[in-house]
Amino acid sequence: MSYRIGLDLGGTKVLGVVTDSSFNVIYRKKHRLSNRADILAVMDQISDVYKELAVNIKDSKIISVGIALPSPVDNQLGEAKQLTAFKENNFPVRAMLRERTEIEFKLGNDVNMATLAEYNFGAGKGASSLFTLYPGTGLGGGYIYNGTLITGYNSTAAEVGHMIIDIDGPLCKCGRHGCLEAIVSYHGFKTFLEEKINSGNSCVIDPSRFRAADIFDAWHNNDTIVSELLKYQARALGIGIANVINITGVERIIVGGTIYHELESDLMPIVKENADKYSIGNGLDGVKILLNDLGDEAPALGASMLD
Ligand SMILES: [Zn+2]
Repeated sequence: MSYRIGLDLGGTKVLGVVTDSSFNVIYRKKHRLSNRADILAVMDQISDVYKELAVNIKDSKIISVGIALPSPVDNQLGEAKQLTAFKENNFPVRAMLRERTEIEFKLGNDVNMATLAEYNFGAGKGASSLFTLYPGTGLGGGYIYNGTLITGYNSTAAEVGHMIIDIDGPLCKCGRHGCLEAIVSYHGFKTFLEEKINSGNSCVIDPSRFRAADIFDAWHNNDTIVSELLKYQARALGIGIANVINITGVERIIVGGTIYHELESDLMPIVKENADKYSIGNGLDGVKILLNDLGDEAPALGASMLD
C-alpha cells in the first residue's frame, strides 16, 4: 500500500492527515500551535506533526507530502510569499521542513487546497469548472477550470476577496477601499457594527467581543442592525458571485463560511437573487450555487493530493 500525507498550517493550529490510495483519511492529528511568534518554533511543530503521522506508516510507502499554507506560494522556490499570520514574506518553508524531516514538501495555498478537495470529493463533484468563496476572518477563493487549479501568472489568481465591489466602500486590510472582503468577512461585520453603534444605533451585540453564536441569536431575535448587516453582506456576496460568473463562466459556485451554513435558508436566497440579477445574459443558467461539503480537514486533504 502507498500513502500520502497532507498538512494544513493555520493561524493557531497544524492539522495533518494520512490518506490511502483512494484519499480516504486513515489517520489524523491536530496540534494547537504554541510559541507562534517564533517562526522556527512553528516549523519545528509542523515537523513533529509530520513525524507523528509518518510513524503510523511502518512498512508501507509514503509517496507524497504536501502542506497547505495561509499564503500565496512559489512552488518552484519552495517559498510562502506572504505568510501574514506569522509576519514573514518569501519564507523558505520547503528548505526549513527539509532540514527537519529530510522530506521534500509540496506547497499549496490553503484555500486552493480546500478547493481541490471540494472539487474531487465534496460539493464540486461532477463539475468541470468551479469557483469557491470562503468568507470568514477574511474572504478566500479558489478557481478550477477543466480540472486544473488556476493559480495565475503571479500566483494571485482567484483572490476574490479583493475584487472591488464599492469604490467608495470600507477600507480593506489590503489598504484599498471597497473590496468584497471588507464587506463580507468577520472584520467587515465588526466594522459596520461599530459604525452603526457610533452613529447612535443600539444592538444586542457588543462589537468588541462577540462570537458567531451571538450573531445567529441576534438574527433569530430579529435584531434590526444585525439583520440589516447580514442582508447587506449577502447582497455583496451575490454581486461578487455575478462578477466571478461574468469573468470565468464556471459551472458551479461553492460558498463556505459558518454564517451561510447556519442561516442557509435565510441568506442563500439573497445571495442567489443578486448573483442572478448582476450576471450577464444566461451566465447563471444551470449553474449551481452550493455550500461547501467538507469541513476543517479540506485543506489538509487537498494538500495530500499534491503531485
Ligand atoms: Zn482588499
